Amino acid sequence: MFVMPGETVATTEEYVPGYGVAEANGEDLVATNIGELELDPEEHIAKVKARTRVARFQGPGTIVIGVVAKTTDDVAIIDLIPMKTANFAFIPTGASAILHVSNVKPGYVKSIKTEFKVGDIVRAKIIESTPLGVKLTTDGKNLGALLTNCSRCRASMARIGARVKCTSCGWVEDRKIAYDYGTGREI
Ligand SMILES: [Zn+2]
Repeated sequence: MFVMPGETVATTEEYVPGYGVAEANGEDLVATNIGELELDPEEHIAKVKARTRVARFQGPGTIVIGVVAKTTDDVAIIDLIPMKTANFAFIPTGASAILHVSNVKPGYVKSIKTEFKVGDIVRAKIIESTPLGVKLTTDGKNLGALLTNCSRCRASMARIGARVKCTSCGWVEDRKIAYDYGTGREI
């Protein structure tokens, strides 16, 4: 079974956390990796084997997909999803990158929190890659949120013009969205 970070994969009654798995609330074991869930019924270990393995950062220009992990007014921390990229290299598991408010879109953005929210799936482009960190931009038609959830009820949000609207409660939020928001295309 393919799992995403945060997904409940087992309970602490049945399993102990192994690679790519952590205890969440005393009861649940959740995935911390993206990959295949492996439940070992004999050793009672739950693991999530990452789908990719080569830990090498990509250079500027590489398009990446990530999940918004944290936001302040000035920056969003984006956990990059391990994936094979066009030039046959890989994003390492557990890598995070930084999107600064000045690189969200053309023009002045006061706070990144009006453009992205924690949990958004975004497509971004690497503009700088050093051992100290990776910097991203979402300035581009093909860049920005691909999938978002309502901050009121967590249901999925559909695109209406340049904004997104909750498919369940009707709540409308601003986002810097990619032109193909919600279509399920990856890159
Ligand atoms: Zn809603």
